[in-house]
Amino acid sequence: MSDRIFLSQAHVTELEEEYVLRALRSGWVAPLGPDVDAFEDEIAERVGVKHALALSSGTAALHLALLHLGARPGTVVVVPSMTFAASANAIAYTGADPVFVDSQTSDGNVDPALLIEAVDVLRSEGREVVAAMTVDLFGRTCDYERMVPALAERGVPLLEDAAEALGASSHGNQAGSFGLAATLSFNGNKIMTTSGGGMLLSDDTRLVDHCRKLSTQSREPVAWYEHAEIGYNYRLSNLLAALGRAQLTRLDEMIQRRQEIYDQYVTLLSDLPLRFLQSADHSKIDNHWLTTVVFEDDTVDVDTIVRDLGLEGIEVRHLWKPMHLQPVFGTSRFFGGAVSEGLFKNGLALPSGFRLRDQDINRVAARLREAVIA
Ligand SMILES: *Cc1c(COP(=O)(O)O)cnc(C)c1O
Repeated sequence: MSDRIFLSQAHVTELEEEYVLRALRSGWVAPLGPDVDAFEDEIAERVGVKHALALSSGTAALHLALLHLGARPGTVVVVPSMTFAASANAIAYTGADPVFVDSQTSDGNVDPALLIEAVDVLRSEGREVVAAMTVDLFGRTCDYERMVPALAERGVPLLEDAAEALGASSHGNQAGSFGLAATLSFNGNKIMTTSGGGMLLSDDTRLVDHCRKLSTQSREPVAWYEHAEIGYNYRLSNLLAALGRAQLTRLDEMIQRRQEIYDQYVTLLSDLPLRFLQSADHSKIDNHWLTTVVFEDDTVDVDTIVRDLGLEGIEVRHLWKPMHLQPVFGTSRFFGGAVSEGLFKNGLALPSGFRLRDQDINRVAARLREAVIA
């Protein structure tokens, strides 16, 4: 096992052990408790938003935000096609129709002009667009300078899925601060983890209060158990929040290591017929959750690389297969061309976790070079 190179393995130290043990010994296993409150405050402060709501997953956070925004059968939510299925699944849970939008070439993030076009076309057809979702893909923020004002002008709320991007920023604003609401994930392979968990972020007190209620079985504020709407059991436990608090103190260190890993891959691989997915905007700071490359058309068969390197214990992965190409969303509407499809066909995510040693990075790069030149 020790020689296996993972895509994005979690890294925990004695600090995490201390935090979790302290929470356990404090008796707060109820499941809510002081570590949940503190974790919410610390994340809100880090991102620069007023409120944070700790939840059982990033998917749960998306689901509750969409419910609050009025997603229901007959309405639509515009969403990037190039994303993890969770973004689209959360829309489907509400009964709303996801409408997918293509990527831009540079960084794979949603094409801002297409997203706005999709909103305008749908509304001209009389559809109710309850939200536009964006996804900060692989750890870098979208082009909010263009989308935020355009969506505001149209009165369409922005929901930012920042699951992959905690710690990234644009013009000094943190990922998770751009939408009316935003969501984070602390799943095991993300930039930091609670082993499983998520967070809803917003400046909107009403939105967060409502989602807090929805997340605890929609209990009304009376002495007995009174319920006026359907609720969910979506809160994060105090023990996991303690783990998250420890990880958060190490977030900058973990981002810095991923940045170094990215830089090393650039040095080792940039003469190959590939490009690194990256932002064209230099005021953006990535968290480099995953280093992702896109090969020039027809130079390699990505599927073969994933399989062959996998057999040798190197975990490289395909980029997200676009949602409009997924059987489960096959009948959904799509705005765009073949950009995200090309990113899927020619794209590869490289091992990027904190625990990688320099020799691991060298091994990945050497093996990739062989695969490309063969
Ligand atoms: C990981 C991820 C999610 C889901 O987060 P969970 O905590 O696993 O539910 C949602 N959206 C994107 C883009 C993700 O990468």
